[in-house]
Parts: sequence; C-alpha cells; structure tokens
Amino acid sequence: MLIVKKFGGTSVGNKERIFNVARRCIEDYKKGHDIVVVLSAMGKMTDELIAEARAINPNPSKREMDMLYTIGEQKSVALMAMAMDALGAPAVSLNAFQVAMHSTNKYGNARLKRIDTERINHELDQRKIVLVTGFQGIDQYNNYTTLGRGGSDTTAVALAAALRADACEIYTDVEGVYTADPRKVPDARKLEEITYNEMLELATLGAGVLHNRCVELAKKNGVQIVVRSSLNEAPGTVVKSFTATRDQVVCGVAGDKDAARIAVMGVKNEPGTAFKLFNILARHNINVDIILQSIGHDGKKDISFTVREDLVEEAVECIRKNFNSKKYDSIDVEKKIAMVSVVGAGMLDHPGVARKMFAALAQANINIRMISTSEIRVTVLVAEDEMVEAMNAAHKAFALEQ
Ligand code: ASP
Ligand code: MG
Repeated sequence: MLIVKKFGGTSVGNKERIFNVARRCIEDYKKGHDIVVVLSAMGKMTDELIAEARAINPNPSKREMDMLYTIGEQKSVALMAMAMDALGAPAVSLNAFQVAMHSTNKYGNARLKRIDTERINHELDQRKIVLVTGFQGIDQYNNYTTLGRGGSDTTAVALAAALRADACEIYTDVEGVYTADPRKVPDARKLEEITYNEMLELATLGAGVLHNRCVELAKKNGVQIVVRSSLNEAPGTVVKSFTATRDQVVCGVAGDKDAARIAVMGVKNEPGTAFKLFNILARHNINVDIILQSIGHDGKKDISFTVREDLVEEAVECIRKNFNSKKYDSIDVEKKIAMVSVVGAGMLDHPGVARKMFAALAQANINIRMISTSEIRVTVLVAEDEMVEAMNAAHKAFALEQ
C-alpha cells in the first residue's frame, strides 16, 4: 500500500513530537507500506517568518516572501529525515524543486498544476520513506511559490492523487472534524464521516481543520482523506463522496469573525449597476461573499456585500476610485460582524432548515443582518460579539451534541 501522511506544524513542533511522528511513520513502513510524508513548518515558524520579514520591510515582495517561507517546511523535512535515520529507518527529504511540484506563478496563493512522480517513485523503489515539504511549488521559471496559508494539506492531497496513493491521512492536533469548533461550542462532537461537499463548505466557512482547496482537489480526484490526531490512536474522520445515512440533516456549524460588510447606498436603480460594481471588485481580485440588494425606491437602491476583513479598505478605495460617484450616495462599512453557518447534505431533501435556524436565533434574541444560502448551507450575518452564542443556539437546535 502507498500511504501519504501529512503532519501539521503542532505535530512537529518540537524534538519529542518529531520523534513521535517519525515512530508512527516507521511503524507503517515496517508493515511493508510505501510511505510519503508531507510536513508543515514547525509550530508557529511561518508566522515568525512573516514578523521577521515585516521588521525589515513592512511591504515585502511576494516573491521574496515565498522564498523565505520555504525554509520553514524545509527545516521540518530535514530534521525528520535525521530523526528517522536515528531510529534506523532510511528516509530522504525533498523540497518542491527537487520533486518538481509545478504550480501557477501567483506568489503566496499559487495552485499546483502538475507533480513529477519520477523522483519520489525512484526513492520509494529504494525502500526509502520520502519526506516532502508541504505548502510549496515552483513556477515555470523555477521560482518558489506557496499555496496559501494552511496549504500543506493541499500538497498532501495533490501528491496522493499524482502517486495514486491508497490512503491519504492528514494528522493534526485535534481528533478529526467536529460538528463545531469545540473551543466555542463545548458540546461539539467528532464526526465519523463527512462528504466532500459538506467539508468544502465548512472549510470555506472558517472551520480551520482542512484547507478548502485541498478538499476541492480531493473531490475532483476522488482521494479519500482521513483526518486524525497525531497524538493518539483515535480513528478520526473520513472525508469522502457519500456517507452512510445519518440521522441528522445538518452535520456542522461554523462561525467566522473574519468578515466585514460594505454597503453602497443610494445606487442608481438602472440596469447594469450591480454588474459595474462587482466587475470593478472582481478586476481587483476582491472576493465578495454574501450579496444583498434592497428593493428600489425613488430610483435608488442599496447594495450590500461582505468581504474578508483585511480587504475592506482596499475594496472601499477601489469603489471610490472606479465606480462613478454620480451613481451612488455613500459607502457604509461595518467590521464587527460574523458569519454563522449550518451545513449539511441532508438539506437537499429536508426542507425547513432555514426556518429552524432562524427560530433558534430568535429565541436567543440574536438579530440577523443578512442571509445567504446554498444547496447545503444556510449562513446568517450577526454581530461579532453574538457569534459564539449563535453557534451554540444553532448547534443545539439541530441536536448535534454528543
Ligand atoms: N506552514 C504553512 C502555514 O503555516 C503551511 C501549512 O502549515 O499548511 O500556513
Ligand atoms: Mg492546517
């Protein structure tokens, strides 16, 4: 069997943990399996690198940031190879250049395009454990790129797909995917399984366990993922196409404080205004989430939408510069808001989920500012300081507790 295993920063955060991971991998290696291990940078190293860079230049070039980031993952794989060697197992570390993990050239947010499997297969044939740096790629000119924060998950799934691995295991510091973040919802329960679509919604909505692009890639390539703890033997959560029938319509609740609302007030009520506004934002690569347009009155309407909080200034600036000021009255910004979502594939054939969520929030006396839905998700916008209460209310309403 060929197994790809990925370990996150906390799982390799110090010497003991490095040896712990080394032992776990060697155990499977000794059973005769081929083992490819993807590692993240140790502990908070990536954050520290950012701080170091900013201390030197508050606005560092994206290319040089990626060059800098790569040392984090590189340190992990080299130390891991040494640990495995110390334990008597043959291992070799490879970075994105040595493997040849080809990506697009968007520094800081590149996508993997193609992975050369020759070198890895050659090392596996020599019965080596192959350690690969997560999070990195190389562009067409061999510049290093990175895949976006948390991108090592994506490296693991991309490798599993390219190598046609039999299993892809993502090890982290929690026991799997939960019905909600246990730090915010104490009643949260670990899920045995979850579908790609549900996981994709949850990952995008702020459930930190998996990088959303990794789930997208897994779905596209049919790579089954197991998310489990590196610190114990608990079975974890399986992410796959279909799950055995579950009683619950909803599988999880997510909360995300990283949202802000921008309202463009008094927009001319004529064809094409929404197109012009969102076209401007799209051209500047500003991702918009929930959009709400009011009913027009006196030839005017209001258009509100949410963006990630760190993009607010850029978005407002961009509208002021590019959207004809004669076409609207004013712009209003609200940062202290959060998105709370319930997700579940069961929504496809069970009506009444939105109603139940609204009832739970009404009972908790929480005001809903905006609403958005997809086939398997209902999201509401609430005040930031009510987010945790809203999550707990929704979690309870859908009987997700243990
Ligand atoms: N080290 C990178 C980060 O902290 C990538 C990862 O951990 O997945 O974002
Ligand atoms: Mg992560």
